[in-house]
Parts: sequence; structure tokens; C-alpha cells
Amino acid sequence: MTLPAFDYVILGAGPAGMAAALTAREHGVKVLVLDEQSQPGGQIYRNIETLKTTRPQEFQKLGQEYQSASQLVENFRQCGVEHWFERSIWQISKDLSIYHVNPEGEHDSSVPSLVQAKHLLIAVGAMERPMPLPGWTLPGVMACTAADVLYKTSGLVPEGKVVLAGSGPLMLLIACRMLDAGVRISAILDTGNKTSTLESLPLLPKALRTPSYLFKGASMIWKLRKAGIKMVSGVQTVEALGTQKLEQVRFRKGSMTETLGADLLLLHHGVVPNVQITRLLGCEHQWYEQQRYWEPKVDEWGNTSVKGVSIAGDCGRVAGSKVAELSGHLAAFDMLYQMKVITQKDRDQKSKHLFEQRNSHLAVRPFLDKLFQPSKNWLVPQDDSTLVCRCEEVTVRQIRDAVKKGALSPDRVKSLIRCGMGPCQGRVCGLNVTEIIADESGLPPETLGYFKIRPPLRPITLGLLAQLH
Ligand SMILES: Cc1cc2nc3c(=O)[nH]c(=O)nc-3n(C[C@H](O)[C@H](O)[C@H](O)COP(=O)(O)OP(=O)(O)OC[C@H]3O[C@@H](n4cnc5c(N)ncnc54)[C@H](O)[C@@H]3O)c2cc1C
Repeated sequence: MTLPAFDYVILGAGPAGMAAALTAREHGVKVLVLDEQSQPGGQIYRNIETLKTTRPQEFQKLGQEYQSASQLVENFRQCGVEHWFERSIWQISKDLSIYHVNPEGEHDSSVPSLVQAKHLLIAVGAMERPMPLPGWTLPGVMACTAADVLYKTSGLVPEGKVVLAGSGPLMLLIACRMLDAGVRISAILDTGNKTSTLESLPLLPKALRTPSYLFKGASMIWKLRKAGIKMVSGVQTVEALGTQKLEQVRFRKGSMTETLGADLLLLHHGVVPNVQITRLLGCEHQWYEQQRYWEPKVDEWGNTSVKGVSIAGDCGRVAGSKVAELSGHLAAFDMLYQMKVITQKDRDQKSKHLFEQRNSHLAVRPFLDKLFQPSKNWLVPQDDSTLVCRCEEVTVRQIRDAVKKGALSPDRVKSLIRCGMGPCQGRVCGLNVTEIIADESGLPPETLGYFKIRPPLRPITLGLLAQLH
């Protein structure tokens, strides 16, 4: 059987994927972009086309950065790239045959369900780091970015008393957005710790090379304080309390414990690279200690250890939309060189200023990554009865017991107690499982490995499997 083939297949139409597509198309390469959303934009510019045309008020409220991305999206639409939306990747084989499905987990006849790539760019972005704590599975407790997705997609904003807990710039950004949308924020519980703040200070001078990021952060804090929102720093524990749904949030800071009435608790603990696809393909990964996550090992162009496969954007190391966009262009230039469309000299000339810009944006990252370094308190839930794997309902205690029986890797824990074996394939619990094993065994997390990722990455129907030859 001959599969439809493309020179360059890009997974993800966020800033990184769109930028790569533009550069590749400028040089006449045949490009296909696949994304599970219904339009280009990625996480940051989610739903941008619809908002611009049908909900101009919200489009304005999302700010200047969001609005100015319209041009990037328009250029992407017009560059002659083939794009298939509402397609989720569930398997990629070693020869770069890519299997994808619609949101129902089925094949739909409007596009071929299997395509072949000569070169593959993975630009699938990041995901929110889960923050397991007592009561986090109660209705009324959500991830912060999930609330943001609802706002961007459907204009939904929470009613009643909202509490945010966690740390990181994205939490502040989402809090500001909610404030603009008229949401009643009762409190922001900052779980960052003093040690990280102190350790980040020597990195501040380098960060000042790109003051815009620091200015943005300071102005968000100022805005929230000016609005009179209760902001508590140095919070050490948070519990979501309620019987059928969230009713209260209890937190502790030093010797002080306080309980707040709440209708919605939004949790945020930073974002981490989405490495399911690079893991599936067998790319080498390394442990990034500063932010305590796994990232694919890449060269300066984003090439992974697997031939023909590169990455761009937050699925490599989380560094924001501007770095994602620049990395997309760079990855595409190197692909063009590998395909002999341009010479090495051409590639280097065209990329010089892109590298310079990327380095300038990256200057702030060591400071931010240290300042918002996740602390062990939150990576390893202190209450052993807390659920960690939500799909298979596995608690911290069960993982600790498995470690005591000799399960010294996420995969061994998985085979003993099914942790990470549910529909999300460990995407949500993976990093917490690693941290709990490390805590119980005393071994460093980087020596423990990660879940072996197997297809399907997304739930698919049996009917679809039966149709495959
Ligand atoms: C939920 C969320 C919301 C965020 N909101 C903001 C924000 O408002 N402001 C901000 O500054 N930063 C935000 N960030 C951080 C921001 O996403 C990045 O810094 C930036 O967008 C990264 O760009 P990217 O191109 O690498 O990835 P993304 O923009 O994340 O794009 C990745 C794309 O890949 C697609 N994808 C993922 N997996 C698959 C799959 N298996 N099959 C098919 N398609 C797939 C996704 O649908 C997405 O469109 C957010 C992050 C997350 C996780």
C-alpha cells in the first residue's frame, strides 16, 4: 500500500509549528500540519480566529500579545500548507508513518488516516504539571489552564468564590485575565518557597537583559494587589474540602492554618514538556533538574537522537511563545539543509539573527526556572492517602508500598499496581510517580527512568483498529 507522503510533517499548530510551516513553505517544501484543536494557535493563541470574528470583546480583553498573533495565524493559513485539524496523533512507527484520529477516537473519511513523513517536527507544546493534594478530585477543583481553555474556547468564566493555589507566571496571568473578565477571586495562595527566591537572585542580572518579562511579571502582581485580592505567600499545604463538591479550601503557612469558603479551586504548578510522542519514538531524554522534568536531548536546531525527527517549542524545554516561534523557524531551516533545498552556508546565514533573538529571550529563563523551581512539598504529596493516578485510582501510599516491594522505576510500579496504565497513559501522573519513587527509595529521579510509552497515545475505538491493514 502506498501512503500519502509529505516532505515535512509538523505535529502541532502552535507558535512553533506555524513558524516552521512558514519557513518550509517559503522554500517550496510539501508540508502537512496536524493538530487536535479545531484551528491554528496552540495553547497561547487558542481559538484566535473565532474570537477575532465572533467575540471581539474577549479578543480585546486577551491583550496585545494575543491580538498581534492574528498576523502569524493569517500568514500560516495563506502559506499553502496542508493542515488537518481535530486530528490527534495516537501512534507513529519507526518509519515515520503517522496514525491519527478525530476527537471521537475514530477515522473520518475526509482525510487519509495514515500518512508518511520524510522529516517529522514535533511541536506539541507543554502541559500543566499536575498538583495532587487532598481533595483534588472533588468537583470544583480544576487545573488553572483548564479554566483558561474554557474562557478562550467558550467565553465561560467561573461564578462564586474562586481561590487559586500554586506558583508560576502563568497562574498570575490567568488570575489577571479572570479579574478582567469580572471573576470574584477570594485569594491567591502562593506555594513558592523562600529558598528558591534567594537562590534565584544571582541569576537576576542576566535576566535583566530582557527586562520586558520581569516588567510583565511585576505589573501582574501590582494589578492583583491593587484589586485588593488576598495574596498569601509561603503556603505549605493546601486541602480541598467538601463532601459532594468543593466547599472550602484549607491551607497552612508556618503555624497558621486558615480555611476559606470556595466554589472553585484552581491549581497551577507550572508547565512541563509534553514528551509522550518523543518517548514513543524512542528519542533520548535527559532530566532537567532546575524544573524537575524530562526533556528530549537535542542539538541547537532541535534534532533529536532519532534520525529525521526534530522538535521545536515547549515540548523541548518550556521557554514561552517567542522562543517557540524562533525555534520553529530554526528547525525548519535545518530540515531544508538536510533535504538539500538550501546549502549549509544559506542555513547559517538565514539563522544567525534568529539564534541571536532566541538567546536574548532565553536570558531570563535560568532566573525564572530557579525562582519557580517546584519544591518537594508539592511534587510528593505529604498526605499518603492522596490520589496520584486518577485513571486507575492509585494513592501515594500504594506507590510507596510498591517501592518497598522492590519496584524502583515507574514501569515496575505500573506493572505491580496499574499506576499509569489508564486512558491518559501516565501523561498526568508520570512525574509525580517518579518523585514518589525517588523520595521512598532515596535514589535520584534521573536514575529511575520514565514510563515506557506505547500506542495508543489517545483512546481509539476497536472499530478503528479493525479497519487498519
Ligand atoms: C493549557 C496551556 C495554556 C497556556 N496558555 C498560555 C497563555 O495564555 N499565555 C502564555 O504566555 N503562555 C501560555 N501557555 C504556555 C504556552 O503554551 C507556550 O509558551 C507556547 O504556546 C508554546 O508554543 P508551542 O508551539 O511550543 O506549543 P503550543 O502552543 O502548546 O502548541 C502545541 C499544539 O500541539 C497540539 N497537540 C498536542 N498534542 C497533540 C497530539 N497528540 N496530536 C495532535 N496535536 C497535538 C496542541 O493542540 C497545540 O495546538 C500555556 C500552556 C498550556 C499548557
